[in-house]
Amino acid sequence: MHSTAKAHYDALTYPRVLVVGGGFAGLEVVQGLAGKPYKVLLLDKQNHHCFQPLLYQVATASLGADSIGHPFRRTIGPMPNVAFRMAEVERVVPEAKRVETNVGDFEYDILILALGSTTNFFGNRAMAEHAMQLKSISQALDIRSDFLQEFERAMVMKDEDDLRRCLNFVIVGAGPTGVELSGALAEIRRTVLKHEYREMNSDLMRIVLIDSNDRVLKNFTEHSSALALKYLQDLGVEVMLGKRVVNGDDESITLNDGSRLDTNTVIWAAGVKGMLIPGLEAGVNERASRYTVDRTNAIAGFSDIYAVGDGALMAEGETWPQGHPQVATVAIQQGRHLVKNLLRRVEGKELLPFTYRNKGSMAVIGRRRAVVEIGDRSFGGVIAWLLWMFVHVVQLVSFRNRMMVLFNWGWKYLSWKNTIRLIVRPYVRRGANLSRPFVAQE
Ligand SMILES: Cc1cc2nc3c(=O)[nH]c(=O)nc-3n(C[C@H](O)[C@H](O)[C@H](O)COP(=O)(O)OP(=O)(O)OC[C@H]3O[C@@H](n4cnc5c(N)ncnc54)[C@H](O)[C@@H]3O)c2cc1C
Repeated sequence: MHSTAKAHYDALTYPRVLVVGGGFAGLEVVQGLAGKPYKVLLLDKQNHHCFQPLLYQVATASLGADSIGHPFRRTIGPMPNVAFRMAEVERVVPEAKRVETNVGDFEYDILILALGSTTNFFGNRAMAEHAMQLKSISQALDIRSDFLQEFERAMVMKDEDDLRRCLNFVIVGAGPTGVELSGALAEIRRTVLKHEYREMNSDLMRIVLIDSNDRVLKNFTEHSSALALKYLQDLGVEVMLGKRVVNGDDESITLNDGSRLDTNTVIWAAGVKGMLIPGLEAGVNERASRYTVDRTNAIAGFSDIYAVGDGALMAEGETWPQGHPQVATVAIQQGRHLVKNLLRRVEGKELLPFTYRNKGSMAVIGRRRAVVEIGDRSFGGVIAWLLWMFVHVVQLVSFRNRMMVLFNWGWKYLSWKNTIRLIVRPYVRRGANLSRPFVAQE
């Protein structure tokens, strides 16, 4: 912050709103409070907002990381009543109205937790240790480097079993993330692997999608699930339903029926749970691993502390008695609604209850194929694919991001090439956990 801007910010006497997490919900709050009578401080452990719905495209070399990330300081630059600190919140001390972070303590009058969610391994310790995750840009880049390294490794493998292990890619969880990732990997097999790894038989690459449910996209209608399954099978993805991964290491996984699959790469996309911070245990729903909130997003038992987005569990009448789905639209709408309520609060007006407007669901499966559900209607094909692209582009945070994504998609569509295929990590020996921060390798 420039010194005059800093002096201006420091001098503000408005109530202090501390927003933790600049994802969909947190950023909506920050943008909504810009220029309003609140002194806002955004804390995030990253320095950028991440557009998670397109992470799988970074992981599969369709988009560069800077197409889906946007620095917080760029967003808040024109907002004189908003400041940002890169900090990881470690504890909330509600009695003192303070949060403790890795860079010091911060005080608040109103605290808003917009922490998002983390990967849920459902107690599967082997997978927590060995599988890769897709929740952040660095993890997406790691997956990208990993599959490219496996391709390169396969080129020099002499042993048939070793070669197959390099080219067996397992994705656990057939929700939108697993389905989209599988479809994108299948596209890579028929474009990149076939044409640029010419000495290798591209048919050796297997993409195996595993889910314990009896259909893919279980939160969609049966019609959409069947359509998505057909698209996946057309692309040559092996879909194993009604199966659970019960064990695994860096070279194989074991399923609940006792069968084993040799693979160097397992990506876990089977579920998420809310991110929680010590200090507010009384407001936590243990089973859901989310904060229990009322219809104004206030955390149960705490005045002046709100949770929004993936981490908030709000029972909304008969429509959402078990809470809302952990998706971006809920996070955005809750963030926007909380802003309205905070502005009503300044005026001494009563707070209004949140109502979720479900705008539908969609998932894309490779080139020119997607499934879309809006209201009672569900459809697939090219129209669904175009709609999916439109919705995702307009939701991106900045104009530059939108342009970059459009350019990359256009280029890829016309050229049939994923060109952003740089391996951007040091060589990692097998055995290193690839989703964890790097430890220098010898
Ligand atoms: C791969 C993937 C694909 C998805 N696809 C879709 C889709 O197609 N459509 C859809 O609607 N939804 C999709 N989602 C879900 C959607 O991204 C989430 O529902 C949404 O991001 C939730 O928003 P949020 O604001 O609650 O949390 P997030 O967007 O996750 O933001 C949380 C923020 O909090 C920060 N944070 C967390 N803990 C701390 C801490 N202790 N201290 C400081 N900062 C912290 C994080 O760095 C992050 O910036 C997808 C998610 C993933 C992972």
